[in-house]
Amino acid sequence: MAVPGKVAAFHLPPLPTVGEIIKLFRLKAQKQLSQNFLLDLRLTDKIVRQAGKLKNTHVCEVGPGPGGITRSILSAGVEQLLLIEKDARFIPGLQMLSEAAPGRVRIVHGDILTYKMDKAFPKHLKKNWEDEPPDIHIIGNLPFSVSTPLIIKWLENVSKKDGPFIYGRTQMTLTFQKEVAERLTANPGGKQRSRLSIMSQHLCNVENCFVIPGQAFVPKPEFGSKVAVISPKPPNKARRKAKNCRLADAMMIICCHLLSARFSLVNERNWLVDVAVVHFTPLVQPKIQQPFELVEKVVRSVFQFRRKYCFRGVETLFPEGGRLKRTEQLMMTADVDPTLRPFQLSMSHFRNLCNTYRKMCDEDPSLFVYNYREELKQKKKVKNLLKSTSQPEQM
Ligand code: SAM
Repeated sequence: MAVPGKVAAFHLPPLPTVGEIIKLFRLKAQKQLSQNFLLDLRLTDKIVRQAGKLKNTHVCEVGPGPGGITRSILSAGVEQLLLIEKDARFIPGLQMLSEAAPGRVRIVHGDILTYKMDKAFPKHLKKNWEDEPPDIHIIGNLPFSVSTPLIIKWLENVSKKDGPFIYGRTQMTLTFQKEVAERLTANPGGKQRSRLSIMSQHLCNVENCFVIPGQAFVPKPEFGSKVAVISPKPPNKARRKAKNCRLADAMMIICCHLLSARFSLVNERNWLVDVAVVHFTPLVQPKIQQPFELVEKVVRSVFQFRRKYCFRGVETLFPEGGRLKRTEQLMMTADVDPTLRPFQLSMSHFRNLCNTYRKMCDEDPSLFVYNYREELKQKKKVKNLLKSTSQPEQM
């Protein structure tokens, strides 16, 4: 667990506020890049404290934007701060911060999804994997569209000890949509237990630190789908209005409630999203000691049918011929009750499934390349082809 550190170890000279920088450089948030800024420095300090003691450490901040979190990181007394920002409009404002902390800031205009982190820090910072984490931290408030693929990529890097983890067990403090953070940290049986829970917890100690309400961001982060704003009304009118509303599936539930509870739809607005700060420390020993790709395949297959018995997902690991027999063999050897639901399985259930599947793949190497979805696609193609060739020709 990260020990929250102090922030004000270094005082920046007087600077324009983050809000003034936004105005000065006309940094209007771009909706298509999901840009939502934090202007309250007490909040950015709180995020940075979750990373632990940062004095004299090296930090990489992903997506600094107008630089709120950047100021808090610099105030924590870091030795070197590497900033990776995709949007060129932010670079002049970041240069201003760099001048306020001479020799301590390096700015890269680039994409974190492709940036090579294995050479980003000095070699002397490298630690053995079994040792305490190195004096290197990754911190970022990224758009949701980037943070999920990025954490998957970094978890793969943890498993292979490459990328930012070539330096040892580099710690990360990142923001996620609140529901994603809940998935990352969910326990067995929890509503949010999913593929992300297993993939992250088998490799890292994952801590859901605190929630930032959506209102704290400028602009407020919103989800694409609409939500209904409802108020009590007579049932007939409610029914008429609900008929006309075009809402996503989830919102239909609200509509049903709306009819039965005599509520009426009065407006629609976008779904306001809350954000959570999550801290990751890679484990010395992963809980499942198998290659990332194998664990990923087993976990993805099991969660394919989230609400069904877990054997339904396990079945999809095997080709049609002999599927039932092999599924039974895997479940029995791994000692997993086939009638448990995927979200009820513990880490040791997944470990047993992965270890047994590995043995089966070693015995029959064609198993690992088998792809259930691909087989379904091929079947569909053949079916359509047969359908089109069996139709009588029109004269
Ligand atoms: N850190 C700032 C804050 O908290 O106010 C800005 C946060 S804003 C949600 C996300 C930032 O990440 C933006 O500045 C955006 O331009 C940047 N960004 C988005 N995608 C990126 C990527 N692939 N690589 C690097 N930066 C990215």
